[in-house]
Amino acid sequence: MTTRVIYLDNNATTMVAPEVVAAMLPFLQKFYGNPSSMHSFGGDVAKHIDHAREQLSHLLDCSPETLIFTSCGTESNNTAIFGTLEAMQEKRRHLVTTMVEHPAVRNPINFLAKKGYRITELPVDRQGMLDMDKVREAITEETALVSVMYANNETGVIFPIEEIGQIAKAKGALFHVDAVQAVGKIPIALANSTIDLLTLSGHKLHAPKGIGALFIRRGVRMRPFLMGGHQERGRRGGTEAVPNIVALGVAAELAQSHFAEESTRVKALRDRLETWILEHIPNTILNGHPEKRLPNTSNIAFEYIEGEAILLSLAQLGICASSGSACTSGSLEPSHVLRAMNVPFTAIHGSTRFSLSRYNTDSDIDYVIAHLPAVIERLRKMSPFTSKADIELPDVLKEKYDAGQ
Ligand code: PLP
Repeated sequence: MTTRVIYLDNNATTMVAPEVVAAMLPFLQKFYGNPSSMHSFGGDVAKHIDHAREQLSHLLDCSPETLIFTSCGTESNNTAIFGTLEAMQEKRRHLVTTMVEHPAVRNPINFLAKKGYRITELPVDRQGMLDMDKVREAITEETALVSVMYANNETGVIFPIEEIGQIAKAKGALFHVDAVQAVGKIPIALANSTIDLLTLSGHKLHAPKGIGALFIRRGVRMRPFLMGGHQERGRRGGTEAVPNIVALGVAAELAQSHFAEESTRVKALRDRLETWILEHIPNTILNGHPEKRLPNTSNIAFEYIEGEAILLSLAQLGICASSGSACTSGSLEPSHVLRAMNVPFTAIHGSTRFSLSRYNTDSDIDYVIAHLPAVIERLRKMSPFTSKADIELPDVLKEKYDAGQ
């Protein structure tokens, strides 16, 4: 076992930035009052919540009052979807989403399908992109809500959000964007955007787990998802997680100051790793659009081997990455994202995601490049499949796979 850790799994979660930890500590150790208290020991803490909201509003170019703090991206997505539909006066019963959303959008929408909503799930092409003609066809005057992710967590593919938003607006539908993977990695400006609701999560941008936020455009009607006290101007009950909120504010400020680095140095590291693998390791395929992608994400299929085996071997070397086939439930079902993209049967199981952050260095990439080829070679020698012919022979299995069994 090695003690060195090369962390290339930043789309799963990120290291809490040291500046963020330092900013949180006083609110754990000294200023622990309840911001709703009448006494100033508690009441003064509320000013720090206001400050964090302002910091976050600068990152997103929106006004602070349009932001509420939540516990995570999942809560923000649930709030946006259920909260707005419940408050909608006009009873539209159609929802539009994509086939590649995170379960934090897919599952609420699947639930609503059982409650009688009609759902359109937009397909993606081989590069993970949407067909805009299909988007135009799907959104109608019946559509209550369009929920589309900004950037995909598995491939990093970025959708044409403003174009989709304009179509939604023209039909009078609300537009929700799950921007959990995009916020902090690429600039997002909400002031003149078509987005009505935008979800983000702290732990993807070097704040701790347990904090998220939701942008709610002025005028959008919403029933609170968590009903309770008057916190967040009655839009989200529950005593504020002050240390986490302060942390998100600082993380937002740091993210803003690192955008240039993200699109240059981090992207260059990602590109070096990706190009090297595609050029030097045979039977590798890039999953996702080559350009329209987050600067930190690379999803590569290593044909004829299992992603889990790659991950375990990399983990023994201290390299943390993620598999396209291991889903959150821990099953070995291939990822719904890669399946929607029609990634070939020979490649889907061996798809591996590398996701970088500003804490990665050239030497991290050198280390991966030095060790990865031997891992792949060893696993390929052990694999019963060594060519496409081997895989395509068992038609029965392939039919089962195509039928999603
Ligand atoms: N949406 C996307 C695109 C994500 O990648 C994730 C987490 O991976 C979530 C939502 C859920 O966020 P959280 O873990 O903060 O609930």
